[in-house]
Parts: sequence; structure tokens; C-alpha cells
Amino acid sequence: MSGTLVSKILVLGGGIGGMTAGIVFGRMGVDVEIVEKSETNLWKGVGIIQNANALRVLKSLGLMQAVLDEGFQMDERRFCDDMGETVCSADALRSLDPNLPAINNITRERLQRILDRAAADAGATLRTGDTIETLSQKADRVDVRFASGREETYDLVIGADGIRSQLRAMLFGEDQKPRFVGYGFWRMMLPRPDWLDFIGVYQGRKETKIGLVPLSKEEMYLFLVTNEPGNPWFTDDQKLPCFRERIEGFDGFCGEIREGLSETDEITYSPAEQVELPSPWYRGRVVLIGDASHAILPHMAQGAAMAMEDAWVLGDLAQSAGSVSEMLELFMERRYDRCLFVQKASRAAADSQQTHDPEELRKHLKHMGEILPGIWRKTDERMAEPI
Ligand SMILES: Cc1cc2nc3c(=O)[nH]c(=O)nc-3n(C[C@H](O)[C@H](O)[C@H](O)COP(=O)(O)OP(=O)(O)OC[C@H]3O[C@@H](n4cnc5c(N)ncnc54)[C@H](O)[C@@H]3O)c2cc1C
Repeated sequence: MSGTLVSKILVLGGGIGGMTAGIVFGRMGVDVEIVEKSETNLWKGVGIIQNANALRVLKSLGLMQAVLDEGFQMDERRFCDDMGETVCSADALRSLDPNLPAINNITRERLQRILDRAAADAGATLRTGDTIETLSQKADRVDVRFASGREETYDLVIGADGIRSQLRAMLFGEDQKPRFVGYGFWRMMLPRPDWLDFIGVYQGRKETKIGLVPLSKEEMYLFLVTNEPGNPWFTDDQKLPCFRERIEGFDGFCGEIREGLSETDEITYSPAEQVELPSPWYRGRVVLIGDASHAILPHMAQGAAMAMEDAWVLGDLAQSAGSVSEMLELFMERRYDRCLFVQKASRAAADSQQTHDPEELRKHLKHMGEILPGIWRKTDERMAEPI
């Protein structure tokens, strides 16, 4: 044993939560195996906004400087109208360090590389191209058979296999599916203009919202949130024309982007979905973390942060709890309310920005301008609470 409750663990899924678990447990001297379904777990074309609480986890793992070096830092969240005029600004709370900008934005790919490297340095083994086939729980262990035919025994299994978690279905039944909430996210990478040193959100007339997020000196990422009743599916051929149609009506820089769209632009689309698994998120010695148990809408940019916090708290408890069952019980005490708060607040933000009457846009903007700085301040304060 390594001074922790577990000496050998399986982490299913090598995404943000899984790799963080690999780092945390690996550094405790635990034998960690991370099994990732895809051949490569590198994600392209997506940006991750890291608020101060995400940076807090990374700082405690000694990885904050690495993400800052590869990201873009700022404090300001700016809310604008469809013409590009500022409605209000909300500076993020510098809860981690008053001398550091509160937010870091980074490409998903760069974040993943940093986590992958740190997990390998911590001694965690990453096996790609495999997944669980069967799992059998005993009082003191979990026996796993993989699709590759390999069989292993672990003290603990951490399910970090994302929003469509196979482990969630195995433990809690096929009914626990992600729930579509009526919106869609369109995303594309673009060159960053010099003036974009804030996260800009532009509220459109047609129940649409554009976000501009600087990711590095050279790159930014655009997201467009739209109402998508019926949860449509878009083929690759349809994405560009549908995206163009949905950003009609925006002026200023967003209008320029629309005019400059071309066939070579890579546009991704994903439906807005939540996972609302009731507590507890574990059965026996198998526990779900991150999107597998509580996928959150991205409106507060907290999904990846919650996955990392989950992994960090589990590691903390593995060193302080008296047994695995106590560790998992305490895990729920420390994680459930916080994740539920983020999930509900993110959903409320989505609804308030997507479902206003288009004819009443100016009135809606005035209202949002009045309430948003206060909402963000309260949220930042809540996120700064100890985990
Ligand atoms: C449009 C959008 C924007 C977002 N923006 C932000 C943001 O700015 N900030 C933020 O904090 N969060 C953001 N998020 C949320 C964030 O991406 C997720 O919350 C985060 O990636 C969750 O981490 P995870 O480890 O739980 O899952 P993932 O990172 O999704 O990782 C799951 C991993 O498990 C693997 N896997 C799946 N099934 C299996 C299986 N059966 N066996 C083995 N492996 C498997 C997958 O291949 C994947 O590598 C955003 C989400 C969306 C949709």
C-alpha cells in the first residue's frame, strides 16, 4: 500500500477528469491504469475557458504555469449587443492570486497534452483503443474484463468516460442518458484580432448568442449558441450554410466573420445536453466523475473545472478517509451540491440568454446589463469556496 486506501486503480477515460485522476493518484504512488477508448485522446478545434477554481486545482498539481504559458489570460467578460456595442462588463474575481488575471483560456488539445505528460510523469499508464467489457464487484476488489480480452483486478474504478459514459449505463442503467435542453453549440477557430483581450458575448436578435474567446496571441475561438428545437443532426455539408444562416443579423466584427466564412472553415456542432445523475454517483468500488455523472452546459465554463475538482477531491479523500466506502460517501458530500449548483446556474444562464422575445431585444439587453455583473460576482465567490 502507498499510504492511501487503494494501491491499484483503473481510470476509464483519458479526458480531462481521467488524466487529472491519473496525476493525483499516480503522485500518491498508486498503480494507475488509464484506459481510453479512442486511439488518440487529443481533441482539436475546441477551447477551454479556465476560471480561477480550475487554475486552483492546476496550481496544487504544479501545472498552473504550464497552462498559463500555453494559454491566454484576462479578467474581463464583456456582454455586447448584436451590433458589437458593450452592454456591460464583469471582471472575474481574482480569487486565486490578486496579481494574476483570473481567467486562462487554452485550446483543449494543449490542455490535454499538459495533462497527458503530467500523468505519464506521475507513473500512470495510458492504454488507448480499449474499453471495459464486463465488470464484477467483490467486497474488496473489482474484476474487469476489457474488450481486448485482458483481465485485471483493481481496488477502485473511476469512471471518467464522459457524457456518454458506458460505465454510467452499466452501473445505473441505460435510462440515465444525457438530456437535450433545446440549444446547440457551433464552434470554429479563427485568428485573434489584437483588440480581443476579453471574452466577448454578443446577444443576437434571433435567439442566438455569439462568444469570442482569445486562446493565444494568434488564435481565438468562436462559439455560437442557437435554439435547435427537435435536436436536429447536421451533416458536414450542412454545417457551413446552417451556421451562416444562424449568424445573420450580427453586425460589427461578428458580421465580418460571417462575410468571411469559406468552405475551408472547420465548423463543429454539438447539442446542449446535461447529465443529471442523482446522488450517489458510485456503486460499491466504482465511482463516476466529470461529465459521466454531471455534464453541465458550458455557459459558466465550469464542466472541465468540475471534472478536475472531482479527481482532486477523490485523491484527497483517498489519503484521509478510513475506508473506500467512507471515501465515496464523503466524496458525494463534497461534490454533489457544488456540481448541482453549477449545473443549475449554467442552465439558468442558458435559458435567460436564449429565450427572450426577439422583438424585445433592447429591453432584454438592458435587463441583462443590470443583473449580469452581480450574478458573475456571486458565482465567482461561490466557486472560490474551498472544495
Ligand atoms: C461547447 C462546449 C464548450 C465547453 N467549454 C468549456 C469551458 O470553456 N470550460 C470548461 O471548464 N468546460 C467546458 N466544457 C465542458 C468540458 O469540455 C467537459 O465538462 C469536460 O471535458 C469533462 O471532462 P471529462 O473528463 O468528464 O470528460 P471528457 O473530457 O469528455 O473525457 C472523456 C474521455 O473518455 C473517453 N471515453 C468515452 N467512452 C469511453 C469508454 N467506454 N471507454 C474508455 N474511454 C471512453 C473519451 O474518448 C474521452 O477521452 C465545454 C463543453 C462543450 C460541449
